[in-house]
Amino acid sequence: MGILNGLRKRLSYRETTLTECRQCGTKCSEDTTECPVCGSKEIVTYNF
Ligand SMILES: [Zn+2]
Repeated sequence: MGILNGLRKRLSYRETTLTECRQCGTKCSEDTTECPVCGSKEIVTYNF
């Protein structure tokens, strides 16, 4: 029962944050300011 409740809660929180490099599309963590792959500082964050 606890597991089912947990799943239901997770489904209701559908907001997803995607942070990626604008240059090469590498996915980063939210607090990233510089791409670890290409060194670009153009990091964009999307909220769905
Ligand atoms: Zn990059």
